[in-house]
Amino acid sequence: MKKLLILGAGTAGTIMANTMSRKAGKDWEITIVDQSEVHYYQPGYLFMPFGVYTEKDVQKPRKKFLPSRATYRQSGIEQICPEDNKVILAGGEELGYDILIVGTGCRIAPEEIDGLTGSDWGKRSHDFYTFEGARKLTAAMKDWQGGRLVINIAEMPIKCPVAPLEFAFLADWYLTQRGLREKTEIVYTTPLSGAFTKPVASAILNHLLEEKGIIVEQDFAIGSVDNEGHKIVSWDEREVPYDLLVSVPTNMGDRLIERSNMGDELNFIPTNRDTLQAKAKENIFVIGDATDLPTSKAGSVAHFEAEVLTENILSYMKGEEMEERFDGHANCFIESGFGKGFLLDFNYEQEPVPGHFPFPHVGPFGLLSQTRLNHLGKLAFKYVYWHMLLKGYPIPFVDHRMSYLGKKIPNKAKASA
Ligand SMILES: Cc1cc2nc3c(=O)[nH]c(=O)nc-3n(C[C@H](O)[C@H](O)[C@H](O)COP(=O)(O)OP(=O)(O)OC[C@H]3O[C@@H](n4cnc5c(N)ncnc54)[C@H](O)[C@@H]3O)c2cc1C
Repeated sequence: MKKLLILGAGTAGTIMANTMSRKAGKDWEITIVDQSEVHYYQPGYLFMPFGVYTEKDVQKPRKKFLPSRATYRQSGIEQICPEDNKVILAGGEELGYDILIVGTGCRIAPEEIDGLTGSDWGKRSHDFYTFEGARKLTAAMKDWQGGRLVINIAEMPIKCPVAPLEFAFLADWYLTQRGLREKTEIVYTTPLSGAFTKPVASAILNHLLEEKGIIVEQDFAIGSVDNEGHKIVSWDEREVPYDLLVSVPTNMGDRLIERSNMGDELNFIPTNRDTLQAKAKENIFVIGDATDLPTSKAGSVAHFEAEVLTENILSYMKGEEMEERFDGHANCFIESGFGKGFLLDFNYEQEPVPGHFPFPHVGPFGLLSQTRLNHLGKLAFKYVYWHMLLKGYPIPFVDHRMSYLGKKIPNKAKASA
């Protein structure tokens, strides 16, 4: 038997285990490894602090989503040894492979920011990128009686780059409902020169921040957190005081990647942007947040990548040319509060522009316009995630290749990274 080994049973690894179990020849044995028995629906962390989702909504037993054909090993992963085609588990056991898929995602690294894990951490400063962080922030938002609520993005790239913006919009909505908005200053501090990485979307979202009275501190590169003075300080010595700090710390690939000497300075794995093959070794493939690809780190992206990767690995198994190409397609709903939302659709080459999705001129979703349907689409993503996306089923009418139909493209607006 030949061996296909998948590292990480999050969004990307689970999809790959399902698609490969359906499609790989019977001469392939499939094993998938993850350290935790719970599968978390990370997009749901955004909604927990506002009481929209509960803890129960965002977690389910991991095994429920894995195919019976694949052997599931619950274990930490210590190291990948590309030269020996083997992986060492936390307990020292070694697993050999013919083909390896790395889907170990990325983690927040609050320790990278001087003072962030100081005395305020978990009390006045929180994250919502982990289950524990979202839980603590939920309690803090419940207790909130007004003051200065500061949202900070430490540096890019981060997973779901629109999530901090959504947090600001939802905080505006939630505090308005509770009669606390007038007693709260919401401050959005970002290292970018605007609301988002892509210029056309950024202009529209900047305008919305202004409309909602959210103060924006742009080009703010955080240097440290002063826990005694309760303020964040940028490298150019600007100070932003907070009563509650909602931090999106540096995002990095897992430490396993560093231990395996396979990553860049943020532990993301250099990956061929078309075939999703690791640049270092031809029998290693990378998917999801673990890659260094210049597109969003998002569940929707992992799903589009999986369609490409499945076909490419099947070709590789047969010794054939890998013909599928990933175009960087990302599709992200942005919750904007008060029951409305936006939708972005873009790829490596094309930045988000207005239009309709998935059907040209019809929609029903509006691209870069604020609609109720987009909000409902965002909420429906939870159902799609648990019931279709993890199984690796195609999402109806949505191809892994981005469609240019229905998009209003001014002078072919090109994507910035
Ligand atoms: C707040 C928030 C909001 C988001 N909103 C959206 C959204 O609206 N839409 C969207 O599409 N995406 C969204 N995302 C992003 C989405 O959740 C991720 O992009 C997606 O989960 C990436 O999948 P992945 O498989 O690459 O990584 P993960 O799903 O994170 O899986 C990685 C897995 O690897 C395992 N692992 C890592 N290292 C080791 C090790 N050393 N040993 C053993 N196991 C290991 C982990 O336990 C984990 O299960 C959001 C994310 C967050 C945090």
